[in-house]
Amino acid sequence: MYRSHNCGELREAHQNTEVTLSGWVQTVRDKGFVIWADLRDRYGITQLIFDEERSSKEIMDTAKSLGREFVVQVKGTVLERSSKNPNIPTGNVEVLVSEIKILNKSITPPFTIEDQTDGGEDLRMKYRYLDIRRNPVKNNLIFRHKVAMEVRKYLSDQDFIEVETPYLIKSTPEGARDFVVPSRMNQGQFYALPQSPQTFKQLLMVGGMDKYFQIVKCFRDEDLRADRQPEFTQIDCEMAFVEQEDILNVFEGLTKHLLQEIKGITVDKFPRLTYEEAMRKYGNDKPDIRFGMEFGELNAVAQHKDFGIFNEAELVVGIAVPGIASYTRKQLDALVDWVRRPQVGAKGMVYVKYNEDGSFKSTVDKFFDQEDLAKWAEATGAKPGDLICVLSGDANKTRAQLSALRMEMAERLKLRNKEEFAPLWVVDFPLLELDEETGRYHAMHHPFTSPKPGQMELLDTDPGAVKANAYDLVLNGNEIGGGSIRIHDKQIQSTMFKHLGFTPEEAKAQFGFLMDAFQYGAPPHGGLAFGLDRLVAILGGQETIRDFIAFPKNNSGRDVMIDAPAAIDQEQLNELSLKLDLKA
Ligand code: ASP
Repeated sequence: MYRSHNCGELREAHQNTEVTLSGWVQTVRDKGFVIWADLRDRYGITQLIFDEERSSKEIMDTAKSLGREFVVQVKGTVLERSSKNPNIPTGNVEVLVSEIKILNKSITPPFTIEDQTDGGEDLRMKYRYLDIRRNPVKNNLIFRHKVAMEVRKYLSDQDFIEVETPYLIKSTPEGARDFVVPSRMNQGQFYALPQSPQTFKQLLMVGGMDKYFQIVKCFRDEDLRADRQPEFTQIDCEMAFVEQEDILNVFEGLTKHLLQEIKGITVDKFPRLTYEEAMRKYGNDKPDIRFGMEFGELNAVAQHKDFGIFNEAELVVGIAVPGIASYTRKQLDALVDWVRRPQVGAKGMVYVKYNEDGSFKSTVDKFFDQEDLAKWAEATGAKPGDLICVLSGDANKTRAQLSALRMEMAERLKLRNKEEFAPLWVVDFPLLELDEETGRYHAMHHPFTSPKPGQMELLDTDPGAVKANAYDLVLNGNEIGGGSIRIHDKQIQSTMFKHLGFTPEEAKAQFGFLMDAFQYGAPPHGGLAFGLDRLVAILGGQETIRDFIAFPKNNSGRDVMIDAPAAIDQEQLNELSLKLDLKA
């Protein structure tokens, strides 16, 4: 038996009992005649004591030879400590060692295995198994497990069945590139790894499963933006015989359950914004609504004077940033520079100081009088002491720029409180999105999403205006999940593929199986998927999903620990009939 107790378990009540512990040596303090060692496992740390008076010479010698991260098994007696450590649960006791066995030695670890480590990100990733021994990483993995368990519990209680779907499949378009896997048995042919189980979960609805979920890996070969992983985990769900309202209710329930169980927070009914409202009020389809700074549109009160820049703009829009009317000229110039950075892309910014005495001072005083500026203050909800920041130009671009400024200011002013949770639904997304490069429309969610009732006809005349039965759950400025009511009619699905630029042959080759299935009594259905990694990170009060994934990839999509991706043998290439032409 390797152990009678774990390293986090012993208390004063265990005094004078004989115990066996196994674990890793975290530290050794050698005072010559007394040696203390901290023994660590997943559950905690227990202090071991060896001393010349009570321990044999052999045991003292072994204790002296211990190094960091040695794996040992000890037998001993639990004693009350003379100097207690109130910072750890086992801090009142120590174990006087009577037998010790070194189970395995360790070479010196490349960084310290402590909460605050001296290891940089790269080193920690390369030796991730050592990183996982550290509390911050270990606790995140345990936290993730807890969230996943609560998800399973809640959905099972609601009659959802977890069904596994295959990984070796054919392309399921979610807007990214596929990772592909060559088939040896079918030379020249490739599987695609699922970007999501979308088509399979729909087929499960045709199969009568009624309520499906799966905590499942998805794979997307995208240029990695910050904090994205090429493989990530979704809580994937689908329901039959439902309308949008049913789905929102079930998953609002799940989210509330998680906030309650994991964070002890009770949230009322989630607000809902249409996509259009979200864009108008926040310039963003995943708004962080924990702080105000809602957009005020100023066209009506800013385009009546001789200020050409505003007069020519499609949209003039501002926000009131709280409490920074006192910014110095230097700080204000820096802010203007910030919005002009290429990543934000504004040409310039007009600002108005709403002074504490109620007067206004702006960069456009030449054109606008106090009465005009008072109207801007009203439209943006500004109060004395606030700074009104105004951008103008093309409506979509300007909204995106102002949204970036809004988030930046919230960050700088520390308005994004990690302990506050403000979920909302964004609904009525457009069905299609114009790709500016190709001039073609593609599905904003995915091609299986159904238009809102009565909107099918608009597809021919004004495709960009068609609204979908599609929705996102947003939490603190992050898209946590999204889904839609699906098309379940073969005819409508093929019309949709036509509008998305598929020839009938292409549609049949790629999605014939789904359209065939629709002919055999496909029920009305819909669903959604939550991103588990991000959900866990946000619930855990952090923003980096990597910290909640046991073995994540770096920003170039590499696993630096196992060194993947990697070249493969010529022999393997031959077996697959693959020829590499790396110059091409
Ligand atoms: N398959 C979708 C996604 O991965 C979710 C859904 O529509 O259910 O985003």
